[in-house]
Amino acid sequence: MRTRDWQSKDGYTYGLHGTPTTFTLEAKLATLEGGKHCLLTPSGLASIACVNLALLSAGDEVLIPSNCYGPNLAMAQNELARYGIKHQLYDAMNSEDLAAKLSSKTKLVWLEAAGSVTMEFPDLTALIRVCQERGAMTALDNTWGAGLAFNAFELGVDITIHALTKYPSGSANLLMGSVITKDEALFHKIRRCHMHFGWGVGANDVEAVLVGLNTLTLRYTAQDMAARALAAYLQTCKELAQVLHPALDGALSHMAWRRVCTDSNGVSRAAGIFSVIFKPEFTQVQIDTFCESLKLFKLGYSWAGPISLVVPYELETMRPEWPTGVARGTLVRFCIGLEDVIDLQADLAQALQTLRANG
Ligand SMILES: *Cc1c(COP(=O)(O)O)cnc(C)c1O
Repeated sequence: MRTRDWQSKDGYTYGLHGTPTTFTLEAKLATLEGGKHCLLTPSGLASIACVNLALLSAGDEVLIPSNCYGPNLAMAQNELARYGIKHQLYDAMNSEDLAAKLSSKTKLVWLEAAGSVTMEFPDLTALIRVCQERGAMTALDNTWGAGLAFNAFELGVDITIHALTKYPSGSANLLMGSVITKDEALFHKIRRCHMHFGWGVGANDVEAVLVGLNTLTLRYTAQDMAARALAAYLQTCKELAQVLHPALDGALSHMAWRRVCTDSNGVSRAAGIFSVIFKPEFTQVQIDTFCESLKLFKLGYSWAGPISLVVPYELETMRPEWPTGVARGTLVRFCIGLEDVIDLQADLAQALQTLRANG
């Protein structure tokens, strides 16, 4: 026991700090991501907390994109603020806005691609360049890309986090997160914090993610293709003002997505999730009825599982201002599962029929 090194992963000393099962998953995830070191946490949100608490101290500032995963902002507003850590929102679609908000106090900049709910794809290269020039660390929430759509570390990010709850698990039956780095010193800094907070994960859940990884690429591709087909179908429906999916021709951020998410064989990838904006003539009540009249799509916030989900959002309560380029109206998000795309399209068609009948 005296010869074991608790800091290295070949020494198995203390269950909370990892077991051979967790080390196996961590190694696979680091490889998939193009990183070197990985830590598991109990959820995607716990991964965000782990990065924040490892890197930020009283007096520091963190910058968060205004289209971020909502609980990332809630953590800054409610918890980081209590520790004397300030935050500011920046417009991820405008690298000049990010540059203007960076200061010597900025220790960490969060990135997300595509953005939550409104699905715009930022110019990651430009955002990362601004942070590198000013010496601010970057952390990307890479749940959407799942390590498949693009190589975050080649783009120059310092840290990625994932909600393994989504694609890597694939079965919507567990919660887990990961934090991945390439830099060894940075990894040890985050790992020490991870140890002190006791963010352990259950071995049976880890085993389930290891099984899920076997089909990750197949599921990601199938859900991507189905989502693009359904997004294209919904673009033809006159009840909708806009379909928000970066892979659609003419989408606001289509070129930024295409540049980053196309591999050397010309294959482009996107997550199987998108949003629509209903025309303003439809009331909230009518849109709730639309969501409830779907039979295959269930009501739910998560995504990347086998069952398709739908959820309406109140965008005006989530953002400092209505996002540029997004039509006015009620936003509904669809995440596409593994059902037959023909059945899903028929389900959408019958629910739109109900909406028209009640309109
Ligand atoms: C779901 C999600 C998270 C949080 O994951 P949990 O495991 O549910 O905590 C973080 N970021 C994004 C983009 C997500 O979709």
